[in-house]
Amino acid sequence: MAQKILGYVELVWTCDSCQTKNPGAIKSCTSCGAPQPLDVRFEQVDPNTFNFIKDEALIRMAQSGPDKHCPFCGTRNLANAAVCVKCGGDLTVGSTSRPTGEVVLPAQSAPQPAQAKPREPKSKAASIVLILVLLSICAFGVFLLTKMMSKDTMKATVASTQWERVVPIEAYQQVARSDWADAIPSEAVITSCSLEYHYDSNQPTKNSEEVCGEPYVVDTGTGVGKVVQDCYYKVYEDYCSYEIMEWGVVDTLRLSGTDLNAVWPSRALANYERVGTVSETYTIWFSTSGDTYSMRTSNYNLYQQAYPGSRWEIEINGLGAVTSAKPAN
Ligand SMILES: [Zn+2]
Ligand SMILES: [Zn+2]
Repeated sequence: MAQKILGYVELVWTCDSCQTKNPGAIKSCTSCGAPQPLDVRFEQVDPNTFNFIKDEALIRMAQSGPDKHCPFCGTRNLANAAVCVKCGGDLTVGSTSRPTGEVVLPAQSAPQPAQAKPREPKSKAASIVLILVLLSICAFGVFLLTKMMSKDTMKATVASTQWERVVPIEAYQQVARSDWADAIPSEAVITSCSLEYHYDSNQPTKNSEEVCGEPYVVDTGTGVGKVVQDCYYKVYEDYCSYEIMEWGVVDTLRLSGTDLNAVWPSRALANYERVGTVSETYTIWFSTSGDTYSMRTSNYNLYQQAYPGSRWEIEINGLGAVTSAKPAN
């Protein structure tokens, strides 16, 4: 967030001893003469408008740094003063600079202590329900894991089989895409672009829009307030449609059967075509005394041994899935 300075305004302070309101730049009470305390709280003169200071000397003073308090008599002195205006004491050692940067509030409003909002107390019943739900999810997870880990080996007979082989055909072709201008590959052909909101920045850039919050007053430590505004920039960039040559799937060849001799589907390829990533899936159904289990695999050698009626030894987990299988000798 960038801070923009709009100008400087006069502030007021209230004397602790006699409650007199004094201008911020006056360093001792105009009524009783008491020095302005180090922890003085400045307030805005007029909370509704900013009467910007035009006096260049006063602005320079506000920009020169926070005032310092004399270590001997407590009187406030300008940042560049070497000796105290009241007692003549040496200010180069032991003087205390005034705090700066605090937000100055309008005179009538009480200071708002910066405090986190108290959290809404959650209802006890809701918490208990939440804990119970979490516990049951955990219990179910443990149950599933135990089931998956448990194994049972049994004799089975191959009941039936099925194979499927899939061959995707890819073509080198022109496709339409869209992206931010700086992310488009150099070989692409851009068809159209338009300025669109992309991100927020602290710095103004080409095609950015300034967004500012309400102005507020900050203590400069001199009795003069700095009116600032927090701003950021919405950056707009070219978002473009483009065309580019890419490999993409244009056709999917599929063959399946129930015998043990799987074959790959094929067709003649054009010179702009190629075969993509092929896949093969084999399913064997086993029957045991009373139950049927199926197993899917991509192991063609194993599948070729699954003659209908052949005897196998299979391993079943607690969830009824076949985790391994081999022909029994
Ligand atoms: Zn006073
Ligand atoms: Zn002094």
